[in-house]
Amino acid sequence: MADVTTDTARPASGDSQELDALVIGAGFGGMYQLLCLRDRLGLSVKALEAGGGVGGTWYWNRYPGARCDTESHAYWYTFAPELMREWEWSERYPGQAEIMRYLNFVADRFDLKRDIQFNTRVTSAHYNEATNRWLVCTENGETYTVKFLVTAVGCLSTANVPNIPGLADFKGDWYHTGEWPHEGVDFSGKRVGLIGTGSTGIQAAPVIAETAKHLTVFQRTANYSVPARNAPLTDEFKRYIKDNAAEIRTATHETANGHQFKIEDRLALQTPAEEREKIYQAAWERGGLQFRAAFHDMMSSKEANDTAAEFIKNKIRQIVKDPKTAAILSDIDHPYAAKRPPIDSDYFETFNRDNVTLVDVKAAPIQAITQTGLRTTEGEYELDIIVFATGFDAMTGPMLRMDIRGTNGTPLSEVWAAGPVTYLGLQVGGFPNLFTVTGPGSPSVLCNMPVAIEQHAEWISDCIAHMRTNGIDRIEPRPEAVTNWVQQVNEAAAATLLPMATHSWYLGANVPGKPRVFMPYAGGMARYRGICADVAAHGYEGFVLSPAKVPA
Ligand code: NAP
Repeated sequence: MADVTTDTARPASGDSQELDALVIGAGFGGMYQLLCLRDRLGLSVKALEAGGGVGGTWYWNRYPGARCDTESHAYWYTFAPELMREWEWSERYPGQAEIMRYLNFVADRFDLKRDIQFNTRVTSAHYNEATNRWLVCTENGETYTVKFLVTAVGCLSTANVPNIPGLADFKGDWYHTGEWPHEGVDFSGKRVGLIGTGSTGIQAAPVIAETAKHLTVFQRTANYSVPARNAPLTDEFKRYIKDNAAEIRTATHETANGHQFKIEDRLALQTPAEEREKIYQAAWERGGLQFRAAFHDMMSSKEANDTAAEFIKNKIRQIVKDPKTAAILSDIDHPYAAKRPPIDSDYFETFNRDNVTLVDVKAAPIQAITQTGLRTTEGEYELDIIVFATGFDAMTGPMLRMDIRGTNGTPLSEVWAAGPVTYLGLQVGGFPNLFTVTGPGSPSVLCNMPVAIEQHAEWISDCIAHMRTNGIDRIEPRPEAVTNWVQQVNEAAAATLLPMATHSWYLGANVPGKPRVFMPYAGGMARYRGICADVAAHGYEGFVLSPAKVPA
């Protein structure tokens, strides 16, 4: 058996702290996992968090316009009825600052911060088979020896700054939206270049345009967007949330995407064109992600999807006054919602402003960043600030940037060399007692995140409770269970139009060299919840559960 305590995992100084469990991350996932393990199971447990506070993705993504696309009454913890009574959202969609207030409120309410160590980035985690313990090392040189390791590192937490030649020579300032300065950025009087038109760029552009001298949006792939129609919540709606919190929770557990709304049963292709248009118009006016729930066949039939796509493209052409700009914005090459569909507040309207220009960098690609701006094959743009809204090394990136090694010292990067392989997105073969909250292979990013997170954290803590009750010390998935699950993940994706967006981050296509594998489970959260419950009910079917080794 290999001694897996390699150089990178060797304690730098002092003794290793011993705990039952360690949670990596203190966002929505890590906070709740900590609470489950500490307060319900009574484990000695700590969370290590790279940021200076709780919040995870919301701690880092402080870019202008950062706001959740899920409606506030479905974007919170639902494990404690009193929490749902005590907290009150102010807007239809919670903004970044309000979500941070909420997460701090929860952390204080349950006294979580005393067991969270901030400003602590985990660099490695190595499994020692002889002791059945994980040795976890941090950037600060601390080490922890733990039996259970839970990663709650988020799916979108590794910023992807494209490798454009010349960035180091740029004399202005540049920022990635996912690592935004806490003190904010003053755009007034500045010529700003925004690269990227995903959900983030689409949220940021209208807000940056309000104060910048000039905003140039560099668009590579045109994108759909539907108005969010954000607004303050009325007293009546706030009362509705309080009176119906339990029902709202149940609804989020029963839907495919963990939202409070159901996908309609009607089919776009069986609805007369005039009526279909009215339905789309009503969904457009209502706004939000619910647009994609207008018809049942929207995500399974390209022909049905085309009707939604055409409706949105027509809206873009109606909103944007300059026909050339409208043509570039509406020249969309993938089905609607095959990439994560953005929602916006006046995104397309922003291109009617005098101080906003759209540049098509698909037609004329970016060549370099210069000292004073950005050069495409068609010309140079003078810029004072560049904002990269260029996304993330999603799902696998946050895991792989840690040096995680399982049995025989095998690196996770080796096991995932051709793409992530997991059982239920909860465990990886050869990595005993390591659990991943919303890992690849689980619904995760295709689901309203707090709903996916609560189910995972509860399943993991129930599993650990089962192990303790039954004298089981070690759990890992059987190879055939992993193979079978990966096949189910692939089949679920293939039954939808999602793989048709060949350049999406769901497939890892946004990061050069990353394997192209559809990462999240697209079979729906409700179905997935049932599968996980069945697995547990059948004695953790598909997992190998081993008792403690009898000392020789
Ligand atoms: P993204 O969806 O990956 O979009 C990145 C954008 O940058 C794309 O338009 C991409 O173009 C462009 N890009 C990347 N590299 C480029 C390059 N070298 N040159 C030119 N353009 C380049 O990232 P995101 O907008 O940050 O969103 C990521 C995810 O975060 C979302 O899908 C969503 O799940 C989540 N999110 C949620 C919210 C919310 O709930 N409010 C808000 C923001 C983000 P291509 O398409 O051509 O690659």
